[in-house]
Amino acid sequence: MAQEVRGVIAPGKDEPVRLETIVVPDPGPGEAVVQVQACGVCHTDLHYKQGGISDDFPFLLGHEAAGVVEAVGADVTDVAPGDFVILNWRAVCGRCRACLRGRPWYCFDTHNAGQKMTLASTGQELSPALGIGAFAEKTLVAAGQCTKVDPSVSAQVAGLLGCGVMAGIGAAINTGQVGRGDTVAVIGCGGVGDAAIAGANLAGAAKIIAVDIDDRKLETARTMGATHTVNSRETDPVEAIRELTGGFGADVVIEAVGRPETYKQAFYARDLAGTVVLVGVPTPEMKLELPLLDVFGRGGSLKSSWYGDCLPSRDFPMLIDLHLQGRLDLGAFVSETIELTDVEKAFERMHHGDVLRSVVVL
Ligand SMILES: [Zn+2]
Ligand SMILES: [Zn+2]
Repeated sequence: MAQEVRGVIAPGKDEPVRLETIVVPDPGPGEAVVQVQACGVCHTDLHYKQGGISDDFPFLLGHEAAGVVEAVGADVTDVAPGDFVILNWRAVCGRCRACLRGRPWYCFDTHNAGQKMTLASTGQELSPALGIGAFAEKTLVAAGQCTKVDPSVSAQVAGLLGCGVMAGIGAAINTGQVGRGDTVAVIGCGGVGDAAIAGANLAGAAKIIAVDIDDRKLETARTMGATHTVNSRETDPVEAIRELTGGFGADVVIEAVGRPETYKQAFYARDLAGTVVLVGVPTPEMKLELPLLDVFGRGGSLKSSWYGDCLPSRDFPMLIDLHLQGRLDLGAFVSETIELTDVEKAFERMHHGDVLRSVVVL
């Protein structure tokens, strides 16, 4: 029997979000219905609402979530009702050329649920944010989007690994391959940048330089493991990073803003043969201009990091275990817990940089 539950909808471009009754179908083959326990508010949800991602309104927002599997469809063997799971937005296929080469984190054919959730009032199909849609009491996803983790972790902490925090930690550990003793600089200290700092710290970086234009954010970055901070409104960050690294630049620079200006800072703030990781998300009109001779002459690698190059089945349980052992403070990313009705206000606080993450707890 399809069920009716409450969910947060973005009805049209720049219109305020609202709570509506939605219809969640029974899971078909390869699908699962998940009872959502917590879901973080991410910039991507705001971009959906602003029409910056696609025009497929209405959207069912929310995608950084954890909860309990309520029901599974035919052929589902990896998860079962009662499992505590984190939802991921890259369920790998196991059959594409990336998967077959043993690099499933690059999967070129990730999938979501085949059936659509709908608005109860009009029957209109909903587009779930990143194929998840978890600002809702229940949601329908592909079973591969459910990753089992130790159920003793709190849902509000676990859910954050489903997107931004994983992107940041993975940018440092998976994409940047930060190692013990490395120098690391992180440009942009929002949720993703702070997670990159925490990831670099976890990987044993010797020096972690946080760069932002907001002193409040630099203060938080220190609690995440930054050893030095640079306010780039007052100080040239490239000069400052070089000064802090013996005049050379950092081994790994993580750009967590997604703008050409900050990307150039990252490019010139790394040591020769160093690595730049772009994890900030640019907009379509942005262009990058760099002397090609500098790209060649400075060597090293320029990488982008999608979802932290994570493999949910490998990384989520591992990071939750490290958190439960007291080695990774995921709780530090939760600024406040809110209700489903508070999402619109939470967007404002996020936009003004007042919070790292607001988390809807159901
Ligand atoms: Zn694949
Ligand atoms: Zn997100």
